[in-house]
Amino acid sequence: MLDKVRIGIYEYAVIESSEPIILDKVLCKGLIDYDNLTITIKKDMPEEKKHQTLWHEIMHGIVRDWGVNLDGDNEESKIDWIATGMCQVIKDNPNLFKEEHNAKENNSTKNESINDGDGNR
Ligand SMILES: [Zn+2]
Repeated sequence: MLDKVRIGIYEYAVIESSEPIILDKVLCKGLIDYDNLTITIKKDMPEEKKHQTLWHEIMHGIVRDWGVNLDGDNEESKIDWIATGMCQVIKDNPNLFKEEHNAKENNSTKNESINDGDGNR
């Protein structure tokens, strides 16, 4: 799993923990700490659950960063639906962002060679 993730203007450290993660007396699989910029993920669970949990915490970060109002009580459920949906789409479409990234790289390579050509004239 990656060890840091940028959400908005902040970089959060991603930490896997063997210690129980407890929030409001409830045992959690993950936790985002907005003050200390950490995302803690339960270490002892399958990779797929860790990824889903990481997405869940990232969604909390995005929602907070953008000031999205998800209607209080249902925030946890809504975050979970969105995170699970995004996690599935990204995993089942591994080239989703790669093609775009490669296209950009090809363009910048082309532009660089054009610029080099101009510079040599
Ligand atoms: Zn949550």
